[in-house]
Amino acid sequence: FKKVKKSLTRTREVFGGLVDLVRGRGKVDKQFLTELEKRLYLADVGGAAVATIVDRVKQSFIDKEITGEVEEFVKKQLREMLSAPTQGVQFAGSGPTVIMIAGVNGSGKTTSIAKLANNLKLQGKKVCVAACDTFRAAAVEQLTIWSERIGVEIVKNQQGSDPAAVAHDACERVKAREFDVLIVDTAGRLHTQTHLMRELEKIHRIVQKQIPGAPHEVLLVLDATTGQNAIAQAEEFSKSVKCTGIILTKLDGTAKGGVIFGIKSKLGLPVKYIGVGEGLDDLDIFNPDEYVAALFE
Ligand code: GDP
Repeated sequence: FKKVKKSLTRTREVFGGLVDLVRGRGKVDKQFLTELEKRLYLADVGGAAVATIVDRVKQSFIDKEITGEVEEFVKKQLREMLSAPTQGVQFAGSGPTVIMIAGVNGSGKTTSIAKLANNLKLQGKKVCVAACDTFRAAAVEQLTIWSERIGVEIVKNQQGSDPAAVAHDACERVKAREFDVLIVDTAGRLHTQTHLMRELEKIHRIVQKQIPGAPHEVLLVLDATTGQNAIAQAEEFSKSVKCTGIILTKLDGTAKGGVIFGIKSKLGLPVKYIGVGEGLDDLDIFNPDEYVAALFE
């Protein structure tokens, strides 16, 4: 909890206005509701979510004194806007688990793959990563450095080679050598958006064909510092492959942690992990209760 609380320091500052308001004096009147709306917006909670919360507070508390109940109610509403807690990755019943990772360049995709690989290795899993972002030389290099540091296997090819071929080879290898988990990196940008989406679909089809039930997860990496833009990006990606969850990165550096409240309602996807720093152990399984509690500390 301490780590989450620390990483939300800047977001907590923007939530301060909201916390002060619900802990204030007076009545829940029109002015209070207008203020509530404004402060939720300022905290990046986002359109529909804001309207719902304000409306519910109005229905339950209009003309009543502001008491601790109002605060508890608002916290409860915020908790309900977050996805239910998950166990992180959903593993295959038998055979290797395949996790595809998507996201635009700079979102923290490579770092998140390294953190996840490390995390799963520490759980005793035999992990392999596939460097399918062959469009960007630096991505393959970075992933190679990380995999050596962590001590996990990497399947790669020269820059510019066919990412689908790399995905194919990686599937063959994890089957032959009985790996528990294959994490597949994918391109974050190509010549065109259509090209990028087609490539994702192709990699998806190949792992599907090679390994029964795969991919077991398609996790989309979103950068929290981009605020509501992160949600727009996720909507684009969801058009080509069905994502199963979100890794929300860089929460430690941003005041825009409120963006998390729009993700479930807008995308219908659970946030599975949050990135709270640049280090290997700075990836946490998302816990909605802790998140809201940390904002109101
Ligand atoms: P990619 O282009 O999406 O693969 O992005 P990278 O993984 O290379 O990350 C881009 C930058 O963001 C790097 O400097 C990372 O150290 C940094 N980064 C990634 N995740 C986090 C995070 O959770 N918190 C912070 N503070 N920085 C992060």
